[in-house]
Amino acid sequence: MTDVKIRELDWYLRDHLFRQSNKGRLEFKQRMLPSEMIKTYLRYRNDDLGEISQLVDIVVANLLHHHVIRMNDSHSLELRGTLRRLQCSKCYYISYLAEAEELACLRCSSRTLAEFPNKRIKRSEQ
Ligand SMILES: [Zn+2]
Repeated sequence: MTDVKIRELDWYLRDHLFRQSNKGRLEFKQRMLPSEMIKTYLRYRNDDLGEISQLVDIVVANLLHHHVIRMNDSHSLELRGTLRRLQCSKCYYISYLAEAEELACLRCSSRTLAEFPNKRIKRSEQ
């Protein structure tokens, strides 16, 4: 289980939670997440369900630790507040960050982040 694979799945899982929460869904079953990831992302289409499950377990533990999600009574996972999609001004990486997390790029730790997609251009036209 490499760090690269863990970091990659962390990004995709945050992306999944972000997109689902935008559709109004806030609860997730941990044991269903591996097959949801395989169904949703081409990246994981041909990957082994057992390996994805191990990665999901590691990433879910990290997300619980960072207060991105919580485990509720019925053993489902729930987002704690909204995730923000932010782009780093230095390396252009997209980070999904929860309210409880430090506002810093998840790749280079820069603090110069902007909402993505950037809405500033629209505002300056008014
Ligand atoms: Zn960055």
